[in-house]
Amino acid sequence: MKVPLLDLKPQYLSLKKEIDDAIQRVVDSQYFINGPDVAKLEEEINAYLGVKYSVGVTSGTDALLLALMAFDIKPGDEVIVPTYSFFATAGVVARLNAVPVFVDSDPVTFNMNPAGIEKKITSKTKAIIPVHLYGQSADMDAIMEIAKKHNLKVIEDGAQAIGVQYKDGRFVGGIGDIGCFSFFPSKNLGGFGDAGIVTTNDEKLYAKMKMMRMHGMEPKYYHKIIGGNFRIDTLQAAVLRVKLPHLDSWSAKRRENAALYTKYFLEAGLAGTEGKTCFDEKNKVLLPKAVYKETGHKNFHIYNQYIIRVEKRNSLLEFLRKKEIGCEVYYPVPFHRQECFAYLNTNDEDYPVANCAANDSLALPIYPELSNEQIKYVVDSIAEFMKEEMKYPMECKHCDCMK
Ligand SMILES: *Cc1c(COP(=O)(O)O)cnc(C)c1O
Repeated sequence: MKVPLLDLKPQYLSLKKEIDDAIQRVVDSQYFINGPDVAKLEEEINAYLGVKYSVGVTSGTDALLLALMAFDIKPGDEVIVPTYSFFATAGVVARLNAVPVFVDSDPVTFNMNPAGIEKKITSKTKAIIPVHLYGQSADMDAIMEIAKKHNLKVIEDGAQAIGVQYKDGRFVGGIGDIGCFSFFPSKNLGGFGDAGIVTTNDEKLYAKMKMMRMHGMEPKYYHKIIGGNFRIDTLQAAVLRVKLPHLDSWSAKRRENAALYTKYFLEAGLAGTEGKTCFDEKNKVLLPKAVYKETGHKNFHIYNQYIIRVEKRNSLLEFLRKKEIGCEVYYPVPFHRQECFAYLNTNDEDYPVANCAANDSLALPIYPELSNEQIKYVVDSIAEFMKEEMKYPMECKHCDCMK
């Protein structure tokens, strides 16, 4: 049985007529730049996320870049980011000749650990970029409190988390000063190419980002500030408008799939003990966990990625791929180990949790249209691998947990 990591075709086919019509409507109008679908998408995203303003942009990466530019981040300024995320989170900081300052991860969610933030703050620190990794909110109360205390801006990287609610029910992207989202095709709300959006509740920031999206131009050919070409494509906006009303049902399906994985892993006796974060349990799989246990909390994990942790990750990855089961490592190299950031002279030992995650985490297929049989097959295949591996002693090359 083939189980791809992601298959976008069934989602397109389920909405083919509506999407094709929307594309045709834009083509017929020949209104490709700033067409009516752009403003309508922005209104619909505002209503969906409960934010006041949004500005459609070229990509999630440019959303982050625009947010930093809107805060006038300058060469030498420091911006705090998690060391474990997709490259864009740190890359945008370095592109402005500002300094990305890395913080280690929380051992359960892999999100930025707020406990690591304050010791990284200096007189040059201007902003924090928490990432809602894999589709679960970062610890925003703690992060906002630190930001307030030190007068820092908070830019939420919600590229993997559109529609995620924090424990108090607010949608991510509306908690910090600016929220950034990506509509890259593999994200939970994906376009037919690159696109993204920034969100804010601050009218001045909104006006500035809207101007900056068009080279800081207002009126035409008069440039008050320097921006760029950050415009979202009208065709993308039209496609996304068809998809947005279905996002909640897709997120629900991802959550159902995650629950099925849990059920099958438990039935197979493979689920590791909750709360353990390293390998003192042989041949177990640590399952992803939605945090916040307070009763009545609304924390919502939408599983842009479903991440398990296993001891012999690389061998399992190879084994699953041979069986035509798609899987991937998000991410094999934390920022502090990236070649392009060698000039920052970071200390590898400051990031034990991210280093561990890079070694033992594995993303399994979780997209909404997966069948129960496919999920069962993935778990059965992992069980088969574990049975074989039982013969060998445990090893943990990346930390001291075996000693
Ligand atoms: C995908 C992603 C981005 C970048 O979005 P693009 O639209 O691909 O530019 C930024 N941050 C995170 C965490 C992402 O997953």
